Amino acid sequence: MEILVATTNKHKLGEIRRILKGARVRGLAIRVREDGKTFEANAVKKARAGAKKTGKITIADDSGLMVDCLGGRPGVRSARFANPPTSENLCNKLLKVMSNEQCVARRARFACAIAIVYPSGKVKVVKGICRGKIIHEMRGKGGFGYDPVFVPLGYKKTFAEMKPAMKNRISHRAKALRILKYVV
Ligand code: IMP
Repeated sequence: MEILVATTNKHKLGEIRRILKGARVRGLAIRVREDGKTFEANAVKKARAGAKKTGKITIADDSGLMVDCLGGRPGVRSARFANPPTSENLCNKLLKVMSNEQCVARRARFACAIAIVYPSGKVKVVKGICRGKIIHEMRGKGGFGYDPVFVPLGYKKTFAEMKPAMKNRISHRAKALRILKYVV
């Protein structure tokens, strides 16, 4: 089965491809205004736009980082937290805001909602979370976004220091996609 993924983020697409190894995954470059209040709402909006454009089953991922001491920020605004939103800018901005707000506890979680929309309009959503903490400096060259400052619970390396295969076993995205395989 071919799976269409409505995204303009080549890193996400690459991870989805590796996690769903064996499936034919095709990216669908589609832009929508991500103005939903939840990851779920944005994922549904993107997948709906893709299914409408192609007439085929389409999935979309909306994800982000939620930091406890920032009351869950940057959350749904993770991609727009710094301008331009390079990994370096996002990580530096996050470290600066956490320092300004004198964050002592550094607990955080990545959250991911994946929506699957059928040509009939039927929608299903699956979710995954990966808990961890934000360290004080950037470490590692892999991954994307906030990976260099995020160490998952029970590990010593940041997502950016891990081999992709390891991140793709334990990430928020991997957990959501594992569930997706059962609901499709
Ligand atoms: P969106 O889902 O397109 O709104 O973008 C989500 C943003 O959250 C990305 O641009 C990244 O900055 C961040 N993000 C989501 N998942 C990950 C991840 O696995 N690693 C690092 N950053 C992520």
